[in-house]
Amino acid sequence: MSKGKTGNRGSVLISGASIAGPALAYWLDRYGFDVTVVEHAPSVRSGGYPIDVRGTAVDVIERTGLLPQVEAAHIDTRELKFVDANGRVIGTLPVYEMTGNEIGRDVELPRGALATLLYDQTRTGAVRYRFNDSIESLEDDGSGVEAWFRSGARERYDVVIGADGLHSRVRQLVFGPEEQFSHYLGFCFNIFSMPNDMGLSYGGISYSEAGRSAGAFAVRDSKEVLAFLNFATDEPPFGANIDVEEQHKRTATVFADGGWEVPRLLEAMRHAKDLFFDTVSQIRMPAWSSQRVALVGDAAFAPSFLSGQGTSLALVGAYVLAGELASRDDPSEAFVAYERIMRPFVEANQALATKGNGSLFMPRTTQEVEARNRILAAFAAGEGLGARKDHARDVHSMLNLPDYRRGLEQGGSLRSSSPSDRPGSSNQDR
Ligand SMILES: Cc1cc2nc3c(=O)[nH]c(=O)nc-3n(C[C@H](O)[C@H](O)[C@H](O)COP(=O)(O)OP(=O)(O)OC[C@H]3O[C@@H](n4cnc5c(N)ncnc54)[C@H](O)[C@@H]3O)c2cc1C
Repeated sequence: MSKGKTGNRGSVLISGASIAGPALAYWLDRYGFDVTVVEHAPSVRSGGYPIDVRGTAVDVIERTGLLPQVEAAHIDTRELKFVDANGRVIGTLPVYEMTGNEIGRDVELPRGALATLLYDQTRTGAVRYRFNDSIESLEDDGSGVEAWFRSGARERYDVVIGADGLHSRVRQLVFGPEEQFSHYLGFCFNIFSMPNDMGLSYGGISYSEAGRSAGAFAVRDSKEVLAFLNFATDEPPFGANIDVEEQHKRTATVFADGGWEVPRLLEAMRHAKDLFFDTVSQIRMPAWSSQRVALVGDAAFAPSFLSGQGTSLALVGAYVLAGELASRDDPSEAFVAYERIMRPFVEANQALATKGNGSLFMPRTTQEVEARNRILAAFAAGEGLGARKDHARDVHSMLNLPDYRRGLEQGGSLRSSSPSDRPGSSNQDR
């Protein structure tokens, strides 16, 4: 790679400061790259729904040096109760049975807690953060990438990486509209906070009828629960997440005669300050890079929350992408190697979302509701979820991480000059 602005191993602009962005920034910084992260939110967002770090991703966290902190944040979810329209419990499953989590090793923690740990770790290095800003346009001339920011700034980088999630701006600018890569899995979801007056603790509760599911989930003994109202629909309502009124109407219509606590959830949704609505979709792209621009995490290969593997793929992808960039001079060769290593892992994990997880959490038809009830009855009778769980566990761990220590030896001691000497040192937070 060409020399970067500060004479180190090259300059990299990363769009997005959630999981993939700070994880990638951490490794690139250690390898001696000059790293800038641009994030359109005013800060790294804390809190949020629980996510999982499993299998190979636990190895990445260990190499990142964050395993003790990540383990300390484990929320230890124990069970999910399934209820009928009258609130009668029809079955209970330990969460690890459904997800294939390896007890004592895999970790579940709030998304914001992991993002904050990763962010804090990069702040001790030389990574520059530009909050409240985003990329307006990109021009890749083959020897570098010119980036124009919403703030009006203009900078040149050796490489630009989109780690900006399911609706990635970098993907849209470089690869084109989202619709061509988005594979809709047939569901929409609303997620929002409401008071924990259902007595939930270390777990959740779920009520499903054909094509619609409601529920709530307590992180440990939290005073608030994360409530959800999910529904099946054949046509993905692209753009529906922009119009909140439309979301409310659509969800209220679908759940109009819902049992259990649905009327209360609908009311809470109407007043929620943190309502998040989206489709359940995967991103599947024929290539994750073009010249000097590449994508990582949900931007490149979102597997959807039905797989529960989005965070793990983002962490592993960031580790491999940084390692390959550190190992080769030509970024396009690094991108090819990154994709060769990651693609089989990504595809196997994406397939988990379409192998029945939907029918457990969100049965689409009466037959799927009955099938789910049979699974619950069999479990109550002492049968585990066996093959399904074991398969997921194998897939979570199927990638043996490459060892990029040579990159560390070559680049680890290289550091950019002091932050104030840097061009465009508009970082607001270090
Ligand atoms: C409701 C829900 C439940 C989930 N449950 C699980 C689970 O149980 N287990 C699991 O592993 N995963 C789960 N996931 C998925 C997981 O959250 C993602 O896969 C993971 O966060 C991907 O990380 P990322 O960094 O690639 O993208 P994201 O976390 O989406 O982060 C993208 C970042 O880019 C920023 N950004 C976006 N656009 C721009 C722009 N134009 N300019 C600058 N910055 C921008 C965003 O603000 C954000 O900070 C769930 C997701 C949802 C929505």
